[in-house]
Amino acid sequence: MLALVIRMGKLGTTLAVTAASVAGSALITASIFNALDTELPLVGWIATFATPLVVAPTMSWVILSLLFRIHRLEQQMRDLATYDALTTLYNRAPFLVCCEQYLTLARRNKRPLAVLFIDIDHFKSINDTHGHEVGDLALQAVSLLVKQSLRDSDVAGRMGGEEFVVALPETGMAGAIAVAEKIRIGIEQAPIAIGHERLRCTVSIGLSVFHHNQDLGIDALLSEADKALYESKRSGRNRIAVHRETQHTTSAAAIGIEGLALKPHV
Ligand code: GH3
Ligand code: MG
Ligand code: MG
Repeated sequence: MLALVIRMGKLGTTLAVTAASVAGSALITASIFNALDTELPLVGWIATFATPLVVAPTMSWVILSLLFRIHRLEQQMRDLATYDALTTLYNRAPFLVCCEQYLTLARRNKRPLAVLFIDIDHFKSINDTHGHEVGDLALQAVSLLVKQSLRDSDVAGRMGGEEFVVALPETGMAGAIAVAEKIRIGIEQAPIAIGHERLRCTVSIGLSVFHHNQDLGIDALLSEADKALYESKRSGRNRIAVHRETQHTTSAAAIGIEGLALKPHV
């Protein structure tokens, strides 16, 4: 019903309600006078039509204005719960719901699923040096670069602060490393414009890949990527690291990984 009202719009619905009220009023009046076997005088007919013609559009317009306002606010609330207002990436909860579905599909179709945990390096000092507003600009620039590095079927979220997560369905270790490197290099090389100045920032990325033979939930998969992120920070930042067990389950040697932390372009 609400969908129909929204599709018809405020004016369309008001006209429809007014027409229905006039028709209803005429029908009821005619039925009553017919039952009483009495002739309705002209003034009675005028009142029969005039009353709904005045009352229905006025009342409809007021009620519909409120209804549309509530609908708009409801949409805004849903957007705020789903998307991070600063970066427009998914918030944590909707990201996890989406990721859970990807994991179910990966398990059923015996396909890999990769997750990346991305954290801006020394972000606190960006805030401290340039101010919180510049920090916000950096967050927006980084999330845009992350989004631009992904396929439509990939999904990205902001876990909070300066931490982002990405889920890459149908992506094994080699593909995930390629995407992570694309993101890392893209951010390293893209200066963020702040007035006439250019700010450079870097990210560290932790990576984990789900393989269908693993008995792993979404929390465990993300926790693996988080541990790898910790390793990439510990070993110097601005680099990607693969979770140790993931490396073993995906034959790391075959793709040339020897240590946990990688920084192929340094
Ligand atoms: P590391 O390289 O180890 O990740 O260091 P870091 O400074 O990036 O990490 P730390 O956790 O010490 O600092 C994160 C900072 O991010 C602190 C917090 O004030 C800032 N922050 C969190 N959310 C926002 C935000 O929405 N906007 C801005 N401008 N800053 C934020
Ligand atoms: Mg950080
Ligand atoms: Mg952090």
